[in-house]
Order: sequence, then structure tokens, then C-alpha cells
Amino acid sequence: MFARKIFWLAAAAALCASLPVLSIHAAETAAAAESEQQEAKEYELDTTTFHMGTVVQIKVFGKTPEETKRFAQIVEDEVVRFDDMMSVHKDSPLNNVNKHAGEKVEVTPEIAEMTREALTIADMTHSAFEPMIGPLVNLWKIGFGGDHVPSDEAIKEAIRRVDHRHVRVTEESGKWFMQIGRDQNVDMGAIAKGYIGQKLAEKLKAAGATHALLDLGGNIVAMGEKYPGTPWRIGLQSPDKSRGAYFAVVAASDTNVITSGAYERNFEKNGHRYGHILSPTTGQPVATDIASVTIVDKNGARAYALCTALFAMGWEKAEAFLLAHPDVHAVLLKDNLKDVLVSEALRDKIQPYDPEVSIRLLKQS
Ligand code: ADP
Ligand code: MG
Repeated sequence: MFARKIFWLAAAAALCASLPVLSIHAAETAAAAESEQQEAKEYELDTTTFHMGTVVQIKVFGKTPEETKRFAQIVEDEVVRFDDMMSVHKDSPLNNVNKHAGEKVEVTPEIAEMTREALTIADMTHSAFEPMIGPLVNLWKIGFGGDHVPSDEAIKEAIRRVDHRHVRVTEESGKWFMQIGRDQNVDMGAIAKGYIGQKLAEKLKAAGATHALLDLGGNIVAMGEKYPGTPWRIGLQSPDKSRGAYFAVVAASDTNVITSGAYERNFEKNGHRYGHILSPTTGQPVATDIASVTIVDKNGARAYALCTALFAMGWEKAEAFLLAHPDVHAVLLKDNLKDVLVSEALRDKIQPYDPEVSIRLLKQS
């Protein structure tokens, strides 16, 4: 069996923020001994766009160029729909909850579903992942032009307003409502992309797509397989190296491979480097001894939120958390960039790439 790919350029655009870069190519796979008529053909369309503050790269495949373009359009439309629904940086239905803090506000079924998932994970992680972190995020503004350390007083005041246990999500005759505390502020930044990624894959599948690779800023949805019988291969970035340099590769099909790392957005303070994840207990950016967390999970929202939580917990607590939750499968890279802890369930899926790293398997049950 050999695989051959023919590329042709459908449209080229400069790699610029909101312009999709389109390249269509047909992928022909054929058994070497078989005749031309038996060739299986599929078309691939790759696009790169910028949404939700992140680079969205997708690969979709179809039986005809028209079908392939239709799949890409479905993803694009859904990303825009979700961005408009859930961004806290614009006038969105989610932000409406913040605007009307203290009141019962009607929300979309998707916001309700994601919020319920967020509350479960906040409970499960004792607020290491805390969707009501908004007041602290808005105070520090890390990654959004913030370059100062807030006063202790301001931090204390903000901490008081951070508590997911005040959030209510209710359903009344088919409509969903959400209510947060009067001075609270919701921030789904550490769960939304995971939720959205999975929804995109579900929508594509419902439209008839068999496989696709969706990358929402390092949050990767591996839908179906790369080729029949061959999983997608997802590289785990070495934080200290250039983009595309991996310390390991994970084989994935019909799952989410989601990574959170200190290298994404950070902040220097008195010569110390902090990530953009904040502790609801201290009100400070967390100083973690983990360089990156990767979670492999069929539930994208859960995977994404748990990444942030484990990262914030630090190595020891994250390991204890994994032991207590055997259904959570993770790859942790320590800040020495050498020690890697891998859930035993991922043993046959992970392949080390960097000879410097040493992998320890974690038996979880
Ligand atoms: P990235 O994937 O870019 O590393 P994350 O998924 O870790 O980002 O989410 C970081 C964002 O989540 C922050 O920008 C902030 O809005 C929010 N956030 C910060 N700290 C927490 C926390 N402890 N729990 C939940 N969300 C947080
Ligand atoms: Mg993240």
C-alpha cells in the first residue's frame, strides 16, 4: 500500500490575522498492485484563521471539493457563532450574565451545558479550576496589557468575589437561565475552547465528515482517524524549543489532546516569570513546577479545564489528583524539562521524541 498526495492551490492569501489561507489538495491512496479504477480519492482543505484570541487551524476531508469546502464552512460558521456567544471580551450572551450579575439571565443551552461542566470541574479540583476567576483576571490583566502588581487590598477584595458555589443554572420549560453573585464575574477562558472544539467535531460528524483535525490554539480535536487504521499523531511541544519541536508524540483518534503550558502567555515580576493562571486562594499568578500538562479525553471541556487545574496544582498535587481520578489521562512535563509523568492508560499511545526526557508511567487503578 502506498499513499500519494497531490497538492494544488485553490486560493492563496497572505498569512494575516483574519484571512483564511486555503489550499485544497486531493489525497489519492491506492494499493500499488491495484488498477486506476480502484483508487480511493479524497480531498483535503486546510484553513488557518484567527478567532477567540487564538490561531484556529483545521484540516477537513471530503469526497468532492464541494463537500470538502462545505465542511470547512461549517467549522468556520460554528467557530464564529461560539465566539460571538461566549467571548467575555465583547457583547456576548455569556457577557450578558456578567452585565446583569445578581439577576437571573436567560442563556443559550450551550452556555448552560458548559457552565454545568465547569461547576463540576471546579468542585472536583477544589477551585484549582475556577470559572468565577473573572475579578482576579480583570485585576491582573495578564496577557491583556497588564504589567503591574495589584495592591494587597485590591487582591483581597477580588478574592472575596471569586466563588463558583454562588452560581445557579436552571431550566424552566425548555429555557435555560444562569445567575451569578451580585459582584461576581464569570470567565470561561479555561474551558470554552475545549467545549467548542468538541462541538465542532460533533457538527462535522453530523454533516457526514468521517475525519478531521481541528487545532484551536494547541487544543487539538482528533476526529476519526488520519487514514483508516492509522490514528492522528499529535506532537507535544517542548516549551523551551521553537514551535514544532516535540518532546513526545501522542497517537489519537476520536479524542481531544489538550495542552496547557507556561510558555503560552506570561508575565515578568521582580525577575520571576508567572503564567496567566491565577490562584483563587492567594489571588496571585500560580508559580508552578510543571512546564506543561496534556490531557487526553473524549470530553473536550473537561480536558481543557483539567489542564489548567493540574498546571495550577503543581507536580505533587497533580500526581495525587491523577491517582484519585483514574479516568483522567495525562502527560505532565516537569519544569526541569526532563521528567515526564504519563498515565499508564496512554502507554501504547505515547512515543518519546526527545532523548533528554525520561518517562515514568503512572498506574492509576
Ligand atoms: P491557555 O490555554 O492559553 O494556556 P488556559 O486554558 O490555561 O489558557 O486559560 C487561561 C485563562 O483562564 C486565563 O486567561 C483566564 O482568563 C482564566 N483563568 C486564569 N486562572 C484561572 C483559574 N484558576 N481557573 C479558571 N480559569 C482561570
Ligand atoms: Mg488552556
